[in-house]
Amino acid sequence: MLTRIKNADTVITCDKQDSVLHNTDIWFRDGRIVKIGAMDAKADEEYDASHMLVYPGFVNTHHHLYQYFTRNLPEVQHMELFDWLRTLYQIWKGLNTDTVYLSSVTAMGELMKYGCTTCFDHHYVFPAGAGDLIASQMEAAETLGIRFFASRGSMDLSEKDGGLPPDSVVQTIDEIMADSRRLLEKYHLDTKDGMRDIALAPCSPFSVSGDLMKESAKLARAYGARLHTHVGETKDEENYTLARFGMRPVAYMDSLGWLGNDVWYAHGIHMNDEELRLMAKTGTGIAHCPNSNMKLHSGVCRVPDCLDLGVKLGLAVDGSASNDGSNMMDEIRVAYQLHRVTSGEKAPDGYTLLKMATKGSASLLGRENDLGEISEGYRADCFMIRKDRPELVCASLDPKTLFGHVGYHRPCDMVFVNGKLRVKDGEIIGLDEPVIYEKAEKEVARLLNK
Ligand code: ZN
Repeated sequence: MLTRIKNADTVITCDKQDSVLHNTDIWFRDGRIVKIGAMDAKADEEYDASHMLVYPGFVNTHHHLYQYFTRNLPEVQHMELFDWLRTLYQIWKGLNTDTVYLSSVTAMGELMKYGCTTCFDHHYVFPAGAGDLIASQMEAAETLGIRFFASRGSMDLSEKDGGLPPDSVVQTIDEIMADSRRLLEKYHLDTKDGMRDIALAPCSPFSVSGDLMKESAKLARAYGARLHTHVGETKDEENYTLARFGMRPVAYMDSLGWLGNDVWYAHGIHMNDEELRLMAKTGTGIAHCPNSNMKLHSGVCRVPDCLDLGVKLGLAVDGSASNDGSNMMDEIRVAYQLHRVTSGEKAPDGYTLLKMATKGSASLLGRENDLGEISEGYRADCFMIRKDRPELVCASLDPKTLFGHVGYHRPCDMVFVNGKLRVKDGEIIGLDEPVIYEKAEKEVARLLNK
């Protein structure tokens, strides 16, 4: 199947030369971009892009999709991370395959409408007897047609062992390793056109034992899979590792084998100069989550310093209960404003943040060679917005910086994933949205009333 994106008004490629192209065709075949420019061929399908701005699809590098069903709960809105988690675990222990499927469809559906074509999720709550939750997420990704990178998260340190979660949502290391191995074999080795993958992702230093961190790293590396966890999110976490292990969080993770090119942390806020230099030197990445960090009063990631020092950075929305949306356009806008307030002229500009949400994020997932830019040979993942809208008058003169400097608040006009049209005029193709959202609301009611 040959697809022609015809006469695109402006293409913001995010390639190495930072090229912006005008009035050009883009051709897709078998899920890849095969040609940018004129081609002597007859397309099987054509899409008129003569009034469109075309961007590479966003790559989201940290999420907890299940949290979409515990958004905006009045009792936790004033809390900071540790109390917030303790309270919400009492609800999350009621998760089942329906909760996970429906929350994944709704949260990833929102992401996709706003230009995200690859979603990574950090799922770490596995209540006993809840069923195959990762299979439910994969099914949700299939329903939407989005590129999905799952993780087998884990927790083995419950309240009685000095951790945060209740007993009913932690597992033994043996149980976790057996299931991790099963899932790596199923989804890491069989990537289906790069549409699916899985990482190992123990939750955090305060809900996971050192042994589980070490075993996870060993197993992931045996399969060539990636490693992810939360590090440097709060001062409470820093106090926890100092009190328990006599080390700051990064030194503690280093002692467990958790630094390297195959590792990325969510947040990375509370890091000193020496720690940031170590992150850069080892190629350890950070998923920057500004909305969540602001809402939970966690602090501000030192993004300008990370950029100076060469720390790998991607952008992420974080779990839906701490954002509370799933919108990468909004995340870029919020990141821009946050760093302007805290760093002034040193703040990253809108284009730096666009590249963080595309190329930077792709590199955290180990996908810098096929995702995050519009270039020949790359996956055919992109989104388009119409230029002839009141919001874009004048603002579209500098389309590279648009999402950061001005902001854009509408769903996309077209979103392609792996060469297939998945969103048209802001609606998800092939999904009966009202029916799904009604089912979702029923599941929210069941979960909260349990
Ligand atoms: Zn998180």
